[in-house]
Amino acid sequence: MALYKYSQYLGTSTDAAFDVLHKPGATTPHSGIYRCEGCGHEIASNGGNPLPPQNHHQHNASQGTIQWRMVVYAQGK
Ligand SMILES: [Zn+2]
Repeated sequence: MALYKYSQYLGTSTDAAFDVLHKPGATTPHSGIYRCEGCGHEIASNGGNPLPPQNHHQHNASQGTIQWRMVVYAQGK
């Protein structure tokens, strides 16, 4: 789970971008922290760069394929 110390730097959002599951290697739509739906592994990815590929980390059979969900949306100025 992504952690933070100072709550004044993070807020909540209902943006639909948080509901989308992205395939391994797909283009990162927004810079932020992404979480693998299968195992909970978290990574940071910059908008426009590819998300990590299928061979980024190993899953057992019950964890299925890697799918990335944005959990923290970094807002540029
Ligand atoms: Zn995973």
